Amino acid sequence: MRVPMLDLSEQYQTLREDMISVLDDVMGSSRFILGDNVKKLEADVAQYSNTKYAVGVGNGSDAIHIALQAAGVEAGHEVITTPFTFFATAGAIARAGATPVFVDIDPVTFNIDPSKIEAAITDKTKAIIPVHLYGQMADMDPIVEIANKHNLAIVEDAAQAIGSTYKGKSVGELGTAATYSFFPTKNLGAYGDGGMIVTNNDEMAEKMSVIRVHGSKPKYYHHVLGYNSRLDELQAAVLNVKFPHLDKWSEMRQQNAATYTQLLKEQLGDKVVTPVALENRRHVFHQYTLRVEKRDELQAYLKEQGIDTMVYYPLCLHIQPVFKDLGYKEGDFPEAEKAAKEAVSLPMFPELKLEQQEYVVSQIAAFYK
Ligand SMILES: *Cc1c(COP(=O)(O)O)cnc(C)c1O
Repeated sequence: MRVPMLDLSEQYQTLREDMISVLDDVMGSSRFILGDNVKKLEADVAQYSNTKYAVGVGNGSDAIHIALQAAGVEAGHEVITTPFTFFATAGAIARAGATPVFVDIDPVTFNIDPSKIEAAITDKTKAIIPVHLYGQMADMDPIVEIANKHNLAIVEDAAQAIGSTYKGKSVGELGTAATYSFFPTKNLGAYGDGGMIVTNNDEMAEKMSVIRVHGSKPKYYHHVLGYNSRLDELQAAVLNVKFPHLDKWSEMRQQNAATYTQLLKEQLGDKVVTPVALENRRHVFHQYTLRVEKRDELQAYLKEQGIDTMVYYPLCLHIQPVFKDLGYKEGDFPEAEKAAKEAVSLPMFPELKLEQQEYVVSQIAAFYK
C-alpha cells in the first residue's frame, strides 16, 4: 500500500465540474486581478474569522510582511516569534527590515511559550508573531496581556490554522491581524499561491489594501512603499468553490486524528507521544505530528513500506545559516531543538482512508518491535 502525505486528487474529482465552470467564467470575464471573486472570498473569510476586514494578497509570506509593515514595523525594530516554524515567519520579519527575536516553545503544543516572551522584550520590540502550528492556536490570553502591557502589535501566523479557535475566539479576533496562506497543501488550498490577512482594525485594513497595490492611493500616487502582492481571480474562484467545504474537511481531519491516536495508543501505548488538542481549542490538524525516538530511522523504515512522512521542521530558525548574524547558537532554545529532532508528521488529509491509517500505525508498531 502507498500512503502519501497528502493526496489532492480525490478532492479535485468531486469538485471538478464546479472548478472548470468557475475558471471558465473568470477567463471569459477578462477580469483577472482584484475582481468579484476576490471580493467574495474576502467577505466570506472575514465573516468566518469574525473580523471586520480581509485583504487578499499574493501568498502567506507576503501576508505576514504586509501585516507587519501596516503595524508600523520597520528597520531598527525587533519582532518576537518562535524558532520552530516555517522559514517564512522570520523571513517576513527580516524583509520588513526588522530583527527576529526568538523565544522557546511549549513542548506540549509546539507553539511559542508565553511565559518566556517578556524576558525577550526590549525598547525596540514592536510586535509578536505567535504561529498557530499544525492547526492549533497558541496560548493567546497571556500573549494578548503582554502585548497590551508593552504596547506591541500581534500578528498571528495562521497559515496552518484556518478555522481553529481559542476559547471560542477565531484566528484574527484576538490579534491585531492574522495571516492565512492558501498554498495548495494548506487546509484551504488554492491551485497556486495565495494569501489573506484578517483584522478588526480599520487603519490596518486600509494600510494593507494600499500596500498590496504598490502603496498606491489614489492610483499612481504613492505615499507609502508598497509592492505587488495580490490574490488573483483564478485562485479566488478556486477558493470560493472550496470554502463551503472547509468545516467538513476540518471535521474529517479531526476524525482522522482521533483514529490515529486511538490506534497508536492501542498498538504502541506510550512508545510515541501523540498530539495534544488542548481544552477550549479547536485544533484543525493541518498536521498530525508525533514525538518519537529514532525519528530518522523510523522515517526511512516507513518510506520503504510505501508510507510518506515529513519533518516540520528539521532545523530551527535561530540556527539557520541565513540568520547567523543574529548571533544565536545551538542550545539557545532547548525545547525547539528537541522538537526538531523528535517531531514527525504522518499523512494527513480529509480523504485519508481507515485502511491507510491502519497500515501506517501497524508499520510504526512493526518498527518499534
Ligand atoms: C505555509 C506557511 C507560511 C507561508 O505561506 P506561503 O503561502 O507559502 O507563502 C508561513 N508560515 C507558516 C507557519 C506556514 O506554514
